[in-house]
Amino acid sequence: MELVVLGTGDAFSRTRTGASAVVLAPRGVVLIDAPDGLLRALAEASRASDQALDPMRIDDILLTHLHGDHVNGLEAFGFLRWVERQRSGGTRPRLHTHAAAAARLWERLAPAMDQGGDATLADYFDVRVLPEGGTSDIAGLSVRHRMGIHPVPSCGFLLSDGARTLGWSGDTAWDPAHVEWLSQADFVVHETSGGPTHTPVERLNALAPDVRARMALIHMPDDFDPACTPIRLLRAGDQVRF
Ligand SMILES: [Zn+2]
Repeated sequence: MELVVLGTGDAFSRTRTGASAVVLAPRGVVLIDAPDGLLRALAEASRASDQALDPMRIDDILLTHLHGDHVNGLEAFGFLRWVERQRSGGTRPRLHTHAAAAARLWERLAPAMDQGGDATLADYFDVRVLPEGGTSDIAGLSVRHRMGIHPVPSCGFLLSDGARTLGWSGDTAWDPAHVEWLSQADFVVHETSGGPTHTPVERLNALAPDVRARMALIHMPDDFDPACTPIRLLRAGDQVRF
């Protein structure tokens, strides 16, 4: 499996795009979360990797939760695709998320995207609610989700191509059961940040060495000290094959 990192920042970063990535799936490119500056981040990651990450060809988006540093990029992405469809047809991007986020997503987007009341969420995205405890086939990946601990409902993902599995924590406070669930994966991208709503790096540093060795960190604050952890730190543009 292969992913390209788009951003590694936390919600307050002055210098980095928010935590997000694209997964090169068997039947397409899957975007995980949509931070501010998404289109710029895709262009920069295309230059840094050997992949052409064209937003017109990203037909599946996985969304962890509705905090702005994970969804603000949906506005430009949604409009870009909508304008293109008016001009030359095509399908809506599919947006996959858990039931709680799906229920309130349009509250988040409508003031900017409802076109005076003429447009609805369905004009921009084909929203697919991830089944509780179930598996979805997304671009040839088998996808499961699990809710973490966060001030708004937030989930992590396990994505498998049948041979390899990627774990993605989403935003979560320290949750040993979440880490255990993610540890089924061959490679785990885990958030870390300050405050009670995120996972302190000390907790991850204390995990078993075989788990830490398969883990990489994302969602770090700008003043994060790389020397404070033996776990790999992701950077925007990283192309990870595992
Ligand atoms: Zn959050």
